[in-house]
Amino acid sequence: MKNKKEKKKKLNIRILSVSSFVIVIAITLTIVSNIKEKEIIKEAEEKTLETFASITNENENNEEIIVVEKKQPEINSKTTDWNLILVNKENPIPENYQVELKNIEYSHKVDSRIADSLSQMLQDARKQGLKPYICSSYRTINTQTTLYNRKVNQYKRQGYTSENAKIEASYWVTLPRTSEHEMGMAVDIVSRNYQILDEKQEETQVQKWLIEHCTDYGFILRYPTDKKEITKINYEPWHYRYVGVENAKFMKEKNFCLEEFIAYLKDFE
Ligand SMILES: [Zn+2]
Repeated sequence: MKNKKEKKKKLNIRILSVSSFVIVIAITLTIVSNIKEKEIIKEAEEKTLETFASITNENENNEEIIVVEKKQPEINSKTTDWNLILVNKENPIPENYQVELKNIEYSHKVDSRIADSLSQMLQDARKQGLKPYICSSYRTINTQTTLYNRKVNQYKRQGYTSENAKIEASYWVTLPRTSEHEMGMAVDIVSRNYQILDEKQEETQVQKWLIEHCTDYGFILRYPTDKKEITKINYEPWHYRYVGVENAKFMKEKNFCLEEFIAYLKDFE
């Protein structure tokens, strides 16, 4: 009996220890699988983060491209601004263009919006002991037509055909409706001591001062010698066009003639 009891006891102990072992294994397995699961989750989370990061990068890149497309001009001006209306051989004065004129020196008239700047420029030049003299300002369409025809006839007398005479004349006197003088936005200024309209004008003290300072008053020398190919007008170191101080200074800094400045602004519009 005693043996039987002892055997049973031993069997119980074995069963107990085996079950304990099984439980321990089970717990260990659970822990291990938990750890693995956590690792898998962590890995997945990391992957998700990576994907998110790459998406974020893509977005940033896209945004950068959009930023490039939306690049702003370095100046806050529009081609439709009143002081930037482009008038040349290809761009006649807009139909029904209205101008309010104001008298300046002698019988000269200009657009009333530029009169004060022009007067100030001339006054400051005179303070330097210079003698600037306006020889042409606002012109009616009739005056422009007369000047143009006179130039065409001058070339015809020199033996040019009618067609060629018109082409040559257009380099000096713009066709009616294509002159800034007809808008009241331009003036021809010469030295009182030298009133001939030729390239020697630029050697006068008056032109030297005006060429250097005109932008401070919102004016540009409209037909520079190095821009003839673009303006299609010969060098005129006496024709000043008003564009506003900010525009004039910007154009000077960039070495833009008006055609180039308008093309620059159009790229952003
Ligand atoms: Zn002129």
